[in-house]
Amino acid sequence: MNARDNTLYVILLGAPGAGKGTQAVLLSQQARLVHLASGDLFREVRQQDTEIGRLVKSYYDKGELVPDDVTIRMILERLSQPDCQSGCLLDGFPRTLQQALALDDAFHAQGKRIERVVSIAVERAELLRRLGGRWLCQRCGASYHTVSAPPKVGGTCDRCGGELYQRADDTEETAKNRLDVYDRQTAPLVDYYRTRDVLAEVNGQGQVESVQAAVVAALR
Ligand SMILES: [Zn+2]
Repeated sequence: MNARDNTLYVILLGAPGAGKGTQAVLLSQQARLVHLASGDLFREVRQQDTEIGRLVKSYYDKGELVPDDVTIRMILERLSQPDCQSGCLLDGFPRTLQQALALDDAFHAQGKRIERVVSIAVERAELLRRLGGRWLCQRCGASYHTVSAPPKVGGTCDRCGGELYQRADDTEETAKNRLDVYDRQTAPLVDYYRTRDVLAEVNGQGQVESVQAAVVAALR
């Protein structure tokens, strides 16, 4: 058995409100996988005085979206670091078909492959309901929900004690737009990975624990 048989590269897909972030944290702990959340990575990288860091920061400073090719470069640089050599959990990347193809090309060249893609499926009406009651921690970014995942103490983050706030754009109109963007940009990845025979679809409508069990089972 060579080392490569022990690698585990996993992608988690899910619309805004599907619980992807929560499941990613649980899964990375349980499976001891490095958790690469693209949002966290963007935050880290743009504070670094490196070529890619300055490039990413320049788009943020202009208030522009970071283009696909820059995002891809940033993720591939991160994936080349030692802690990702035996696998990782990708959360928030790839977000477009172009990113998925670039990832496959880069991995192919290195003799690696994505072993599993888990898509957490939730009905649109349920997504809209969930997105409406969302609260975020201003310190660590953890998310809570008045119905499905309330904090132990109202208004306070369980994880770090930070203050919770509700984003002004967590309105129904904004939620619909976010879901439309996901349907247009990212949902095609589900079909793409299905044709590559690595897709597992999980029903994300239950309790956090039962969804977690289904996600873990999908990796076996
Ligand atoms: Zn917090």
